[in-house]
Amino acid sequence: MCYYKLNKHFQKLGDLMSERTIAAIATPLGEGGIGVIRISGEKAVAIAEKCFKAFSNKPLSCFCGYEAAYGRLCSGDEVLDDGIALVFKAPKSYTGEDVVELSVHGGRIVLKSVLRAVLSAGADLADAGEFTKRAFLNGKLDLSKAESVMGLISAENDTAYRISRAAKDGRISKEIDTITNDLLLTAASIATFTDYPDEDIPELSVENFSTMLRSAADKTAALLSTYDAGKLIREGVDCVIVGKPNVGKSTLMNLLSGNERSIVTDIAGTTRDIIEETVNLGDITLRLSDTAGIHDTDDTVENVGVERARKKLNDADLVFAVFDAASPLTDDDRKLIDDISEKRVIIILNKTDLETKIDRTVFDGMRVVEISAKQGVGLESLIKAIEEITEISNLNTNSAVLISEHQRACTERALNALNEAVCALEIGNTLDAVGVCIDDALAAFLELTGKRVTNEVTDEIFRRFCVGK
Ligand code: GDP
Repeated sequence: MCYYKLNKHFQKLGDLMSERTIAAIATPLGEGGIGVIRISGEKAVAIAEKCFKAFSNKPLSCFCGYEAAYGRLCSGDEVLDDGIALVFKAPKSYTGEDVVELSVHGGRIVLKSVLRAVLSAGADLADAGEFTKRAFLNGKLDLSKAESVMGLISAENDTAYRISRAAKDGRISKEIDTITNDLLLTAASIATFTDYPDEDIPELSVENFSTMLRSAADKTAALLSTYDAGKLIREGVDCVIVGKPNVGKSTLMNLLSGNERSIVTDIAGTTRDIIEETVNLGDITLRLSDTAGIHDTDDTVENVGVERARKKLNDADLVFAVFDAASPLTDDDRKLIDDISEKRVIIILNKTDLETKIDRTVFDGMRVVEISAKQGVGLESLIKAIEEITEISNLNTNSAVLISEHQRACTERALNALNEAVCALEIGNTLDAVGVCIDDALAAFLELTGKRVTNEVTDEIFRRFCVGK
C-alpha cells in the first residue's frame, strides 16, 4: 500500500523534499574495508556523474537501475579514490527516489573527501534520518517499519535484533491491521443497527458489539503489554548491585563482566564509588552498577558513595541485593531488605560454597538465587531469574512487540478509547457516543502506522536517527 497517497499533506511535503538532492556517509566513520556515500534525489545521478568516471567510459546517466561500475572518484582534477558506483532508479530504491551509492575505501579521510566532492557537485548534506524519512514519505515503508530500522541498527543483543526484524517484516503493522479491521467491522455493524433498527439481525445487538469491542480491547492491551519487556531488551536492564560491604558485590560484578574492574579485597568498604559496566548475559543486556555498600558510616568520602548507591537503587529497573550466606543477618542486612521492598529485586545469597549461616526465612516470597561468585557457580539460575522477573521470558520475539515511545503512547490512547467505548455501551449511552470512541481508537492506530500523522510527530521520530540513515 502506498501510504503517502492517504495523506495529501505528506505528498506536498514529499514534493518539497525531493527538490533537494541529499548525500551523507552511510557507513560508520572509522577504518573499514569499504565505506559508502549515499546520494538520493532527482539529481542524484547527475551529481554523482560530476565526481565519478567509470573506467568503461559509460556515463552514469546511461545506467539502468541496479547497475554498477568500477571507476575513479575525483574532485576537479584531483583523484580521490577508486571505487564502485551503484545506481538505483526511482521508485526501486531505499528512498523511492533516484539513488547512487558510491563505495570507496573505508577510511575517515577518504569518505569525507568524497562527500565534500559530492556536496560541491550540488548535493545537500542529509539531515538525521532523512533517507528513511523519504522512504516513509514515498510510501516505501509505514512508520512502524521505519522505526524498526533504527532498532535494527542499534540492537545490542540477539533478542533486540529479532524484535526489530519482526517489526521491519511488518508484524506490528499486521497486528494493528487486524485490530483496525475488527473495529471498522464493528463501526459498520453499529451504523447498520442505527440505520435499520427494525431489522431483526442476530449479529446486530448491543451484546455483540460489546463482545467485538472487548476482543479489540484485549488485543490492544496484549500489544501494549509488550512494550516494557521490549524496552528492557532494547535498552538493557538498568541493574544495581547493593548489599553491605564484603558480601561479594565486586566479585559478582567481575564474574558478570568477566574482568577485574571492581577492586576485590577482604577489607570492608573498598568500593567507594559506583562502577558501571554493560554486559550481555544470555540474550539480556545488563547495565550494571556496583555500588558502595549501603550502610551507616562516619567516613565522609564513603558516605558520598553510600548516598549515590541509594539514588541508583531508586532509579534502577532491577536490583541485585547481595547477602553473605555464610554469615548471620545483621541490622544493615535487615535495613536493606526494608529499603528494597518496593523494588523489582533478586535476592542473591552469595558464598554458598561455605557453610550456610543466614536465616533464609526472611526472604520468603522473594525471588532468591544462590551463587558462589568466587567459584562462578549459579550464573544460569541468575539469568533465568532475570528473564522471569523482567517478564522478558514471556515475550514472543517473533510476534508484534512495540518498539518506541510513540507506538506505546498511540496504543495506550487506542486502549483508553476502546475501554471508554465498552463502558459507553454498558451504561446505555447512545451508539453515536460509542462510534466516537471507536473513531478515537482508529485515529490513534492510524497515527502509529503513520497513515495519519502530523509533521511534528514524524520530525520527532526521524530526528532520533543518525545521519546517513
Ligand atoms: P564487596 O565489598 O561486597 O564488593 O565484596 P568483595 O567482592 O570485595 O568480596 C569480599 C570478600 O569476599 C573477598 O575476600 C572475596 O574473595 C570474598 N568472596 C566473594 N565472593 C565469595 C564467594 O562466593 N565465596 C567465598 N568463599 N568468598 C567470596
